Amino acid sequence: MARTEGDRCPGVLAVHQAADGGLARVRIPGGRLTAEQVDVLRLAAAELGDGRLELTSRGNLQIRGLRADGPRQLSDRLYAAGLLPSIAHERVRNILASPLSGLDQQSRYDVLPVAAALDRALCDRPALADLPGRFLFALDDGRGDLAELHADVAVRAVDERTALLSLGPRGARVGWSEVPELMLAAAEAFLDVRDQEWRIAEVAGGAERVLERLGLRADEALPTETTRVTAGRNGAAFVVTVPLGSLTQEQSAALAESGDEVRITPWRSVVVPVGAAGLEDVGLITSPDSVWEGVTACTGKPGCAKALADVRADAGRLVPGMRRDDRRVHWSGCERRCGKPSGVFVDVLAVGDGYLVDGKRV
Ligand code: SF4
Repeated sequence: MARTEGDRCPGVLAVHQAADGGLARVRIPGGRLTAEQVDVLRLAAAELGDGRLELTSRGNLQIRGLRADGPRQLSDRLYAAGLLPSIAHERVRNILASPLSGLDQQSRYDVLPVAAALDRALCDRPALADLPGRFLFALDDGRGDLAELHADVAVRAVDERTALLSLGPRGARVGWSEVPELMLAAAEAFLDVRDQEWRIAEVAGGAERVLERLGLRADEALPTETTRVTAGRNGAAFVVTVPLGSLTQEQSAALAESGDEVRITPWRSVVVPVGAAGLEDVGLITSPDSVWEGVTACTGKPGCAKALADVRADAGRLVPGMRRDDRRVHWSGCERRCGKPSGVFVDVLAVGDGYLVDGKRV
């Protein structure tokens, strides 16, 4: 099946037409951005879109409200900034890496160089441009922070020499030097065995069939320990939460000024160097005790035509007065609950004349 048939995952050129204009999604493999790249994105949002940069649940960035000539101008700017190395692969560069990799004691192996090597090798393979836009690679530095994101092909560090490669709950022990090649071979095997499916888990016996083609046996149970990255100091880095994952111009500028490099996480937060100043002054959250920690929302009105409420505006007004909940909290504009977290969460659902919280009217 050709990649474009039915695959509506947005990219930079394949822009989604939302109720508030074009929506472009920029893939950030490994989540890593230089300060200059943050500024390129910030200016693009200001001059071509509605000014905001949205963080997605896969550690990518979105620009909304793009005008008609936006995609062309945006792709030129991203290409010049090194953010669009392959037009053909732009929507398939879905590579997550543990955002604190190499920065604290929990990191058993720095997976960011592996993520960069994987991205380069992916872009060098024309056939892999046919991957669905939802296909996901994940490189976990051993702490188990990416386990909940259920990547199609994942590796988790065991130590500096070995990793567990998995397509499901069990893994095969492999050496780090083989990891990029094996992950790409798994993606190629998926393209061979799939029919209309977007993910390996959707193919009957998909994981087993792909592993068989790789000549691997997943006979080791994956570790069950997981960790959650929260705002505040984490080893040699600082994590800031972005309320509702939507960066204003002021906040993007503050991140660009925070140091040479930032890392976008899949939890609507950003890793910045320790000592970065002025972040709270622009409304970024630097404490794990904030009521904003773990709060997410779908697009809602006016960006989504299906929305029954402007959930982001309502959350912005109501969350500061609410008690902090250790569970994640997700606000949805309709029952589709786009962007909801995996696992247990507090469900805040718009119903037209108010909200239900976990099914109860408030
Ligand atoms: S949950 Fe509903 S309102 Fe929110 S973005 Fe999805 S479709 Fe739109």
